[in-house]
Amino acid sequence: CGVFGVLGVTDAANFVALGLHALQHRGQEAGGIVCHHPEHGFNSAHRFGYVRDSFTSQTLMQTLPGPLAIGHVRYSTAGSKGAVIRDVQPFFGEFSVGGAAIAHNGNITNADALRRELIERGSIFQSSSDSECIIHLMARSLQRNIAERMEDALRRVEGAFSVVAMTRTKLIGVRDPLGVRPLVLGRIADGWVLSSETCALDIIGAEFIREIEPGEMVVIDQKNGLESRFPFRKQSPRFCIFEHVYFSRPDSIIGGRSVYETRRQIGVELAREAPQDADLVCPVPDSGTPAAIGFAHESGIPYGMGIIRNQYMGRTFIEPTESIRNMGVRLKLNVNRALIRGKRVILVDDSVVRGTTSRKIKEMILDAGAKEVHFRIASPPTSWPCFYGVDTPQRDKLLAATMSEEEMREHLAVDSLKFISLDGLYRAVGEAQGRNAKCPQYCDACFSGEYPVAPSDMIEKGFQL
Ligand code: 5GP
Ligand code: SF4
Ligand code: MG
Repeated sequence: CGVFGVLGVTDAANFVALGLHALQHRGQEAGGIVCHHPEHGFNSAHRFGYVRDSFTSQTLMQTLPGPLAIGHVRYSTAGSKGAVIRDVQPFFGEFSVGGAAIAHNGNITNADALRRELIERGSIFQSSSDSECIIHLMARSLQRNIAERMEDALRRVEGAFSVVAMTRTKLIGVRDPLGVRPLVLGRIADGWVLSSETCALDIIGAEFIREIEPGEMVVIDQKNGLESRFPFRKQSPRFCIFEHVYFSRPDSIIGGRSVYETRRQIGVELAREAPQDADLVCPVPDSGTPAAIGFAHESGIPYGMGIIRNQYMGRTFIEPTESIRNMGVRLKLNVNRALIRGKRVILVDDSVVRGTTSRKIKEMILDAGAKEVHFRIASPPTSWPCFYGVDTPQRDKLLAATMSEEEMREHLAVDSLKFISLDGLYRAVGEAQGRNAKCPQYCDACFSGEYPVAPSDMIEKGFQL
């Protein structure tokens, strides 16, 4: 998901709508905005579909006045059935100490246990979302202000959370102690901005100040400015390495590094680790493009757009059902026949999950008359599901969980198939010595099976580590 918040500008909701539009790649299912105005109080709108369709009507935006607003774009993760509008964030709660809204990116790994406990003690849940636990935990806290209640609530929560929240006057941002999901701070004139990624600061002309640190909570108001605290036990950070590979936008800056440059470097590493004689390097657009540019540069093989993407389709993976996903590849990607015909082609993509995309693309490329098809993948084999906010399917649907690399190659029926090594990926994200096996610098559980937070709900359901 994507989260965004603004304090201290006229009609903050307009800025939030723009910010969410820039974060749309993080979730396309639905979006929501909550705002506050000194006279009109809290207002909100929650809509299915793209931000650009939902939040542009003047009449709607006029119902969202005030200098403070937060928003959320939703990407439903594993386990969520068909969404209902009540699942769309931000969630709002009216507490004895005043109202507050929260927007959460990540996934709470003990949400089932928390929900059971809260319901037993009288909480009435409105949605099926794990994030709603935070609101109920806040309601039960005895602290005298919202920020302290949030601290109380989040200390009971396990898993990944980057949260943007608001009260009548305050904008609040928090990252879990491992800092799994991103969250950045910006300024716009006298106002303040919190955003999942820097690309959404750019769209409103805000200045990037810094990242919120793992385990940090910032509480911002117009009078006192920003106050920072660290409410959790300190741990070594484990940022999601897959943000670098796929999830974030290439024009964002993470950990002081350009995501584009990191992806290009992954391509360079891939060309060194898995060289291949061929006539053409093609990205599977858009997610494979920077890596393909790096691969072509390093190998000296010409780069070409052998697959053309229809810009009016969203990301296929995120569409929740299998049948739509199957169709999606053809709806979204088409082969540039004139370029492909008679060539030995290296296709570069970011990841293989179920293998649906790669299989379809290989067929399309061969139909177009390619002589050979070689796949180079910008991440190691995805053999474990993510429980921290990325929608990977159950383990048995992951190609790499059940097949060796050679079996995957046969299954996809391609001439060769190579993945970047985990160390190669670490080098590409700037860790010159590769992965520190004793204390990995990132979360890479979907590749290594080493989960930095035990997924307790899933273990209870029988998931085996
Ligand atoms: P597959 O077709 O193998 O199931 O999915 C792989 C494709 O899905 C890749 O092209 C990748 O760009 C895209 N993708 C989109 N979202 C995700 C995600 O959350 N995780 C992974 N691993 N791949 C994703
Ligand atoms: Fe990111 Fe993979 Fe860890 Fe999930 S399991 S947080 S996708 S690195
Ligand atoms: Mg892709």
